[in-house]
Amino acid sequence: MSETTRDRSTHPTPRVVHSAAQLPDPTPGRERAVVMTMGALHRGHAELMSVARAAVGPDGEVVVTIFVNPLQFGSVADLATYPETWEADLAVCQAQGVDYVFAPAVTTMYPPEVPEILVDPGPLGQVAEGEVRPGHFRGVLTVVLKLINMVRPDYAVFGEKDYQQLVLIQAMTAALNLPVVIVAAPIVRDHDGLALSSRNVRLSPEARAAALALPRSIAVAQRAAVAGQTADAVCRSANAELAAVGITPDYVSVYDPQFNPNPVAGPARILVAAYVGGVHLLDNGAVSFGGGL
Ligand code: AMP
Repeated sequence: MSETTRDRSTHPTPRVVHSAAQLPDPTPGRERAVVMTMGALHRGHAELMSVARAAVGPDGEVVVTIFVNPLQFGSVADLATYPETWEADLAVCQAQGVDYVFAPAVTTMYPPEVPEILVDPGPLGQVAEGEVRPGHFRGVLTVVLKLINMVRPDYAVFGEKDYQQLVLIQAMTAALNLPVVIVAAPIVRDHDGLALSSRNVRLSPEARAAALALPRSIAVAQRAAVAGQTADAVCRSANAELAAVGITPDYVSVYDPQFNPNPVAGPARILVAAYVGGVHLLDNGAVSFGGGL
């Protein structure tokens, strides 16, 4: 269901809880879906909430978590300047008919007296985004596992916007036998093609114009793949699109669904990341090699 059909005025305010103990046990016979966020909610997050609602149906429970996880931030400045828009976030959740907003404090998630035990993402966590941001995926997987244990959902919805994160969460779910179904939601873009991100508010008008080279680079790469180019050549065409506006990407890489690099045949994903005007931006898109989609 879209934002427009689930009008804010027709939904009660979500119940806000700050600890797992305040969150009621899942009601027997009603399924529960969770959408994990760091707040500063936008239409991309709203889409995840609508996918969560579709998974559990009108009588199910949708829980949105809002927690800016310090464990996944490498840079103190990035953490300190991460946007916070609590009232607007609640309005987005209400408009989507969310039942619970779980907003724990840092000390609730990481009590100082509890020893720090972290999830190791393995080799998949060391490449691409993991190489640019050492320790990032360890922080992400740790908080995702904790939130799954605290919320006890049947479904957890994640965006394809953070594609490597989605693949790693699916891998963790399989590797650690987590009793949850991971659901993927497509990338939601702004009117000009830029993938929505909470960090976009930090872009100056000039940086925002330059940032449009990211979705353009994905489109160029997709056309190159359709034209029969190799993964290497596809990456070169994406790189050229970025270089044309002076962007030096952190990486432009193609992976198959198991996250092996540079596939020669079958469906794959091109991932692009760059700092534009000091803001870390990600984008990705489906590509296919060896003919057909
Ligand atoms: P964040 O609050 O940025 O950590 O993101 C929380 C969830 O929303 C993650 O599963 C993201 O992949 C997802 N998400 C963020 N932006 C978008 C977008 N533009 N389209 C789809 N999903 C998104």
